[in-house]
Amino acid sequence: MQKIAIIGSGIIGITLANYLDTTKYDITLFDEGNGQATKASAGIISPWLSKRRNKRWYRLAKDGAAFFQKLVTDMNISNDIYAQNGTILLRKNGLESLATLAEQRKRDAPEIGEIKLLSSNATTNKLPLLAPQESLYISGGARLDGLHYLDYMKKLAAQKQIHFISEKVTLEKENNHWQINTPNQQMSADRVILAAGPNCKTLLEPLGYQVDLRPQKGQLIVFKTSQTQSVNWPVAMLDNEADLIPANNGQVIIGSTHENEEHWDLHPTTAAFEQLTTNSKDFLQFPESLLKNSFSYRVGTRAYTSDFAPFFGPLTEEPSLLVASGLGSSGLTTGPYIGYLLANYINEGTWPDTDYQKPLNTYIQK
Ligand SMILES: Cc1cc2nc3c(=O)[nH]c(=O)nc-3n(C[C@H](O)[C@H](O)[C@H](O)COP(=O)(O)OP(=O)(O)OC[C@H]3O[C@@H](n4cnc5c(N)ncnc54)[C@H](O)[C@@H]3O)c2cc1C
Repeated sequence: MQKIAIIGSGIIGITLANYLDTTKYDITLFDEGNGQATKASAGIISPWLSKRRNKRWYRLAKDGAAFFQKLVTDMNISNDIYAQNGTILLRKNGLESLATLAEQRKRDAPEIGEIKLLSSNATTNKLPLLAPQESLYISGGARLDGLHYLDYMKKLAAQKQIHFISEKVTLEKENNHWQINTPNQQMSADRVILAAGPNCKTLLEPLGYQVDLRPQKGQLIVFKTSQTQSVNWPVAMLDNEADLIPANNGQVIIGSTHENEEHWDLHPTTAAFEQLTTNSKDFLQFPESLLKNSFSYRVGTRAYTSDFAPFFGPLTEEPSLLVASGLGSSGLTTGPYIGYLLANYINEGTWPDTDYQKPLNTYIQK
């Protein structure tokens, strides 16, 4: 049986592992369990009205959002992990042109669902946390609870006899196989998949590669409230870099910061609290009532390339080494689909003929 090592069990690694053919492969997942972006994430799956102009990224994100229907069925994912409750978009100006864009995009992304301009009262009715203001609602938007997704998919993987090793890994090539080293053990593998977020750079550099990747710190705050209906509420994308995500058990998340100078730091800061609450206050119905609840922080590290686009696939000169990283702030949306595409490639040798990314050597060179 071919031995496969997956380094990193974030959203890419764990989804990939669950789609691999366990009758053909002996699979081990390694994760040092630190700073996982997936665990920290806000959870919004709603890429269609992004201001980004990168067409390859948009195709990937749109197809990634559509892929959730298959993922939910294949893996039997419950509503408390993935819920398609819609998205509310708030804009001081330009809601009509946003609605027009949504109608255009819906032609090849029917998952957008119903598109509706909401009056002030209708906005508050849909999401009572919001102050009365006009908005755009799209029914296809969803939220994914990254932490619970990982827990659930890990259980599924364990049932499929996939092994887990919770240690930090370094990688070496010896003759025709890969050597995976941890502080306590060594394992050899025929194939390796690096799904280690920004750490793909650290793992590839000792093998002689230059990698275009950098870490970015992201923080969000999670309020505990008594809002029992929050589980059915849509997410809201506010007009100024802040989002409001009602979650399970009355939790309400306000996210996220994008801190480029903080690199790998995982400490929560009061500056992040100030920034996020200041940016969201004007949009909230009773800010003082929400913000007085007890809260906790979540902090994670995103991976970015210079052109903010993800990359994934086998290295040309080392086809037994596959990589996937650079998912930035939309990796919950694109990550499961990337994991699935990589699994298909390993299982069947098939690769999508859609142009989702620049050539891999744009980001990784020897
Ligand atoms: C605050 C925040 C909010 C976000 N909100 C959203 C959102 O609303 N919507 C959205 O689509 N995306 C969002 N994202 C982005 C998304 O979370 C990430 O892009 C995605 O989770 C990346 O997944 P990944 O599998 O590539 O990496 P990760 O989830 O980071 O997993 C990589 C894993 O590799 C492991 N690892 C690294 N090096 C080693 C090593 N040497 N040995 C062993 N293990 C190693 C790490 O421990 C880690 O667990 C958000 C991110 C953050 C930080």
